[in-house]
Amino acid sequence: MRGFSSDEKGFLRWASMNHSPSAHPFLGLSGPWLQTILMVLAFGIFSWTLYRRLGLLRRGKRAKRLDRPLHRMAWTWVYGILQIRQFKYPVAGVLHMIIFFGFLLLLLRSCLLMLEAYFGGVSEVGAVYAWMKDAAALAVFLACLFALFRRVFLRPSRYSDRLLPEHHSGEALVILIWILAILGSDAMFEAAGQALLPAEEGASPVAAGLSGYLEGMGQATLLQVRLSSFWLHNVLVLGLLCYLPLGKHFHVLLALPNVFLANQEPKGKLREAAEAGQAFEDLEQVGVGKLFDLNWKDLLDFLTCTHCGRCTDQCPAYATGAPLSPRAFTLQGRKLAYKSQPIWKQTNGNPDFWESGFSRDGLWSCTTCGACEEACPVMIEYVDKFVDMRRFQMEIGEVPEELQKPLQSLERRGNPFGKARLRAHPFLNSEKVPLVSDAVAGESVGDLYFADSAALYEPRANQAAVAFLELAHLAEHPLGSAWSKEVDSGHDARRFGEEGLFQELRDRNQSWLTSLQPNSVVVTDPHGLNALKYDYSQDLPVLHAVELVELWLQEGRLQVSNHQESIQVSFHDPCYLGRRGGIFEPVRRLISSLPKVELVEMERNRSWSFCCGGGSLNLFREELGQQRMAQYRLAMALETGADLLLTACPYCLLNLEDAAKSSNLQSWLGVQDICEFVLSRVSPENTHEKEGVKA
Ligand code: SF4
Ligand code: SF4
Repeated sequence: MRGFSSDEKGFLRWASMNHSPSAHPFLGLSGPWLQTILMVLAFGIFSWTLYRRLGLLRRGKRAKRLDRPLHRMAWTWVYGILQIRQFKYPVAGVLHMIIFFGFLLLLLRSCLLMLEAYFGGVSEVGAVYAWMKDAAALAVFLACLFALFRRVFLRPSRYSDRLLPEHHSGEALVILIWILAILGSDAMFEAAGQALLPAEEGASPVAAGLSGYLEGMGQATLLQVRLSSFWLHNVLVLGLLCYLPLGKHFHVLLALPNVFLANQEPKGKLREAAEAGQAFEDLEQVGVGKLFDLNWKDLLDFLTCTHCGRCTDQCPAYATGAPLSPRAFTLQGRKLAYKSQPIWKQTNGNPDFWESGFSRDGLWSCTTCGACEEACPVMIEYVDKFVDMRRFQMEIGEVPEELQKPLQSLERRGNPFGKARLRAHPFLNSEKVPLVSDAVAGESVGDLYFADSAALYEPRANQAAVAFLELAHLAEHPLGSAWSKEVDSGHDARRFGEEGLFQELRDRNQSWLTSLQPNSVVVTDPHGLNALKYDYSQDLPVLHAVELVELWLQEGRLQVSNHQESIQVSFHDPCYLGRRGGIFEPVRRLISSLPKVELVEMERNRSWSFCCGGGSLNLFREELGQQRMAQYRLAMALETGADLLLTACPYCLLNLEDAAKSSNLQSWLGVQDICEFVLSRVSPENTHEKEGVKA
């Protein structure tokens, strides 16, 4: 091929228009007529299906999701367009990105081909575009082929789901083949065009290559190949458009809106049981019992799910064999929604959510760890839905038996352990001297230690809390406490759906907190941290112990002995400290500042941490999987070869230590609270050597 003179170019443009589908009838219809009929049909079907599908949203309850539009746009850019979450699964992520961006370029091409039916030659817009389009088509083609191979032969485990009877790979395969057919028909259309007429050098290299195979065909045959490829391409593109609202590829249209409308509240904050301005006591119905008790955004989540299975892949309940798969929940919800509003039939009523096949055991198996939400590339939310459903179950008295006792204890005694209210001081050092001063209203309280139930009533958790308070003592950081007034923060009561009980506990704590007016609140329990930050209404700084210990080490208020054995430790990120509370790095900095201590990370660390089984009320529930989550987590820690597994939550400590004992793993892997570990490496005699160090 060579470059053309301007006269030659003019002739070729004329000749190319002559070979355009706009100039030749097909199936007895002229190009413009056939295209118009196809478009009217396709857009008619598409509009109706879209109307019916999105009409579902009008049946959901209200939700406010249009606040902070600029922030939402930036968020959509990062998570919707750049899709940074895709790369947490690198192979699938790269494939998805190639197909996504390639498809955007090819969309322009498809639009031009629609116009070609009216205006001959309009699809030939220059060599640069032709190159880009070919590069995109080739990349998408190869990505689709590899994706097909992966689904058929490699079969990543997350594509199947033991709680979903239907296998969803079939639809994905059909769509991949559909895309390949679109690419193939376009390439054939162009190749036949080039075989009919020489193209300018460099234009459409793929078509140029393919046209070699068509040599030897007569002009009439080539024209028929060109026309049939063209119309096949347009039918496939319009057919795909019609199909989108019917299948899982609806996400092609809904992913960006769903990301834009995603929850922008802090991760640990729960949806309120009552709307703003409404009192909880005045609610006619608490929580979600039927499908359309959910709000419109919850329903949009159902419609948007891509079936990718990342949520279920990350779910600790699913991993350990419990009857809970977040993906299955969403797809069952979607199926129920479609059943109650079919495309071509009349709308049905408001079905009970259990008709979807989702089980009560599944509902109660969720630890609210948030791993599913962290993994979902289209920001589908779970915890709020589950808590709303639990609220309804609580309201109608459908409470799992093993939860009834701890809930009663919370109500009567203010702690889930059923212990009588404390009389003796819970935080004494080895000389029986209190490590915290009793906070008194009207006196300056300074920083206040909020212990929460575990540290007050559970002996092992109390030891860990005492270790922290000893560190505070060594660092000369005075802390007050209202241990005799404290009741449980109510964090888990709320997440198990007992909103009324939570509000009662919160109000009791808030009344003494308000009268004491501390500068800040310090906690050792991440559930307490989350409750005080997001469930309570007073505006107080709340810190977790690890943040302070890291600071004390940095400032030299705690000095660590160099004469210790070298040790490798791993760290288990508690869900409500890390994923929910965003506290990851202070712990890492703290550990790396300790001499002769090496941190070896588990594969699932930071926001990918694996829940140990959950806090507070979860302790009283028998897990429904074949294996306990804590045992699963211990196995991950063992793989690192660490000598010691550290954590920073009393419930993680209890769960993991108990799992180590019951699996006889103690001699292989010790479990300790991070404050206990730091205390074991601090040299008390050196602690205050630094001059000028004051509390
Ligand atoms: S919050 Fe955790 S336990 Fe619950 S469904 Fe999600 S991943 Fe599973
Ligand atoms: S909810 Fe999100 S992560 Fe789970 S399958 Fe659907 S799109 Fe994937």
